[in-house]
Amino acid sequence: MDLTLNASERAFRDEVATWLAENAPRERRPPAGPAMVEFDVAWQRRQFDAGWAGISWPAEYGGRGLSLVQQVIWYSEYARAGAPTETGVCFVGNAHAGPTLIACADEELKRRHLPRILSGEEIWCQGFSEPGAGSDLAGLSTRAVIDGDHLVVNGQKIWTSYAHHAQQQELLVRTSTGARRQDGITWVVCPMDTPGIEVRPIRTITGHDDFCEVFYDDVRIPLTNVVGAVDDGWRVAMSTLSFERGTGFLPEQVELVARVDELVDLARTRTDRTGRALIEDSGLAERLATARAEAHAVLAMTLAVISRNARSSLPGPEASMVRLLFSQLQQRVAALAVDLRGLEGLAEGSPWVHDYLYLFATTIAAGTKDVQRGIVAERVLGLPRGR
Ligand SMILES: Cc1cc2nc3c(=O)[nH]c(=O)nc-3n(C[C@H](O)[C@H](O)[C@H](O)COP(=O)(O)OP(=O)(O)OC[C@H]3O[C@@H](n4cnc5c(N)ncnc54)[C@H](O)[C@@H]3O)c2cc1C
Repeated sequence: MDLTLNASERAFRDEVATWLAENAPRERRPPAGPAMVEFDVAWQRRQFDAGWAGISWPAEYGGRGLSLVQQVIWYSEYARAGAPTETGVCFVGNAHAGPTLIACADEELKRRHLPRILSGEEIWCQGFSEPGAGSDLAGLSTRAVIDGDHLVVNGQKIWTSYAHHAQQQELLVRTSTGARRQDGITWVVCPMDTPGIEVRPIRTITGHDDFCEVFYDDVRIPLTNVVGAVDDGWRVAMSTLSFERGTGFLPEQVELVARVDELVDLARTRTDRTGRALIEDSGLAERLATARAEAHAVLAMTLAVISRNARSSLPGPEASMVRLLFSQLQQRVAALAVDLRGLEGLAEGSPWVHDYLYLFATTIAAGTKDVQRGIVAERVLGLPRGR
């Protein structure tokens, strides 16, 4: 994929930048509760109404049907405009459930859900992890048996982000036990208002309850909601995870580059107790320089994944390299931001403290950093398995 912009792409970039300058929310996103949901959905809706949701999604499902280069331009301008990049309630639908449906679902499911994801009418959540199956996802035990034309689900999921706000869930269930543990898993669209579902929020270190436990008691889901085929869910789930790890965080990556630049500016203007600019401290200067180089490197790697995606339609295991580097870099930059602000950075309720605490989760979500290292070792570098 050639990322040198031609004349029409430059015109597209200018159009995007103008719209975002006039329409991106100026106010800070509420960190939790109904106000946060309202904010996320209203912003998604505004993008959809103006034709900016799903830039590279097919036009017949509500997208714009534009090129991946134009999608990258949108993300870049989006972050540059300071538009919200927090992992909001529309993230799962936009970043991995929707792309999974495009890649693997039948026509009926695509037509039913994709336009509603883009318009903000459907919030999605991800029901993959269980108390006994996080990194070891293939060990999941939430069972589903076929009864007539329905799956009947019993079991429990955990760490389901925004389950209490979602209308739909990408749910993994065990439908049989095959020779390999990956066999016999099914990926199904689960409407969250189905009788038998109970959602219990979990409070975290940030003081908010973004996560939930979800319990299933004889939950009946039509077999027509299965994506791929019954027992073929592992293949579908790998698509979901490669989107989640590989390309879902591009706006955050562009924003991180800008955030590091802001920190460099801050270090130039702030002084320590002796009146010396913070940037004169060689330790801080080195951390800033390293962060700036790494932020650019991670962004370049994501663009390479997207470029390969243009040819193969799915990000491969290389997505794990991006996820691994980006998640650790986010934590280092959050620590730098707190350090540079001194006592102000530690004040209760400050956004820097919130980011610093929240970002402990980033090397766990979408697969822990150890799991990503394992994938890179075995599936990218081809190293022998250690066990
Ligand atoms: C912010 C956030 C949002 C999330 N949202 C969702 C969601 O919406 N839906 C959902 O289904 N899940 C979600 N999760 C859960 C997440 O996918 C799991 O936490 C993650 O997969 C790890 O699983 P676990 O917590 O069970 O830890 P475990 O798998 O029990 O891991 C415990 C420790 O053992 C290490 N370990 C385990 N296996 C290996 C291995 N093979 N090699 C090396 N080390 C290993 C891990 O790295 C970790 O340090 C979310 C998590 C976070 C933090």
